[in-house]
Amino acid sequence: MKKLYIETYGCQMNVADSEVVAAILSDEYEITHAQEEADLILINTCSVRDNAEQRIRKRLRELKSYKNKKEHLKIGLLGCMAERIKERLLDEESTLDFIAGPDAYRSLPRLISESSYKQPAFDVMLSTTETYDEIEPVRCDTNGVSAFISIMRGCNNFCTYCVVPYTRGRERSRNPQTILREAQTALDNGYKEVTLLGQNVNSYHWEDETGKVTNFAQLMALVAQLSPQLRVRFATSHPKDISDELIETIARYPNLCKYIHLPVQAGSNTMLKRMNRVYTREYYLDRIATIRRLIPDCAIATDIIAGFCGETEEDHQATLSLMREVGYDYAYMFKYSVREGTMAAKKFEDDVPDEVKSRRLEEIIALQQELSYQSNLKDVGKSFEILVEGVSKRSDKQLFGRNSQNKVIIFDCGNHQKGDYVTVTVTDCTAATLMGVER
Ligand code: SF4
Repeated sequence: MKKLYIETYGCQMNVADSEVVAAILSDEYEITHAQEEADLILINTCSVRDNAEQRIRKRLRELKSYKNKKEHLKIGLLGCMAERIKERLLDEESTLDFIAGPDAYRSLPRLISESSYKQPAFDVMLSTTETYDEIEPVRCDTNGVSAFISIMRGCNNFCTYCVVPYTRGRERSRNPQTILREAQTALDNGYKEVTLLGQNVNSYHWEDETGKVTNFAQLMALVAQLSPQLRVRFATSHPKDISDELIETIARYPNLCKYIHLPVQAGSNTMLKRMNRVYTREYYLDRIATIRRLIPDCAIATDIIAGFCGETEEDHQATLSLMREVGYDYAYMFKYSVREGTMAAKKFEDDVPDEVKSRRLEEIIALQQELSYQSNLKDVGKSFEILVEGVSKRSDKQLFGRNSQNKVIIFDCGNHQKGDYVTVTVTDCTAATLMGVER
């Protein structure tokens, strides 16, 4: 068997895609985690933010000199960046033998055999149907406890700042039977947690040949029923699709994790409209109130963009006040960067000076630190069942795991190991971590 080294950038969808790619190539290649052993290097890329693309370009320059020393090595580029700027990549990075977009992975064996860096091959056709439905992924970099399952691909939402609809194409959902089979296989192989993935998972919609529809809430219930020992998470959702039925379903099944990542992006209606998020601040807060009412112990996380086009100080203050009002447990926070080809790049001026974006981002981060700390403080004295994921970085005498709310808890090993469920009482915390003792 030849050796395949895959480097994955960006979101969990890309991690899941790399596992599909490993499966597609598994007749000829086995995974290695050592670059120097590789006959084939694949870089699975992300275009969501400019700095991700800059890192990948730097990496390609490094690989160029590495490749000169390895005669038979092939290097291919996959993912969103491949889709977005393939011609330019082929010009600039002559190190590449082939390029494959997110819907072209079944063509990889052909692209590999046809290509050379003197004559690169590419396939970046987007599909309206490809879901890699029946392909059982080869689990590459997982911890053996938690597996990602891609349940849909693409996005129809066209938020004005986002490249995803252009790089990953239109939304399409995967047959629930193949999702259930993949979750069952993960369970049979010792995994204790699955995360159902998609750019907008809660718009999942499958209609079978008899016209019977499965929506996301129903899919979650089906996966939950596989085993009470299997925890189920999902990422990521759009506020417009967070239905009462979905919230009630999460409340009903103990193994559906009490953690919802609900990206808000901004707190003012002017910004939400300009971002084409299709909800208002009031609608979003109503959804949060419903989550709090039906799942009182649910953790809520979000994404926030600082300094989008035309953002005023008042808009920024509206983001801070919304953060306080919700009391997020966790947030992913970024400065806006223009993505070529998006509606925002075409229609709006990127007119917030960089130093203002940085200052606003710092204020958002500082507030979130405080909110996360307050949220963690409330957990001191409470007990949680955690799923152990591995040995703590601080000490090999301690383990770490997550509770249902996705919070990391560190505790002394005892007789436990990775994959165990352990009940731990929280004794102390920082803004990032809870410390506890086994109960
Ligand atoms: S929902 Fe909006 S931000 Fe999310 S992937 Fe789709 S277009 Fe991008």
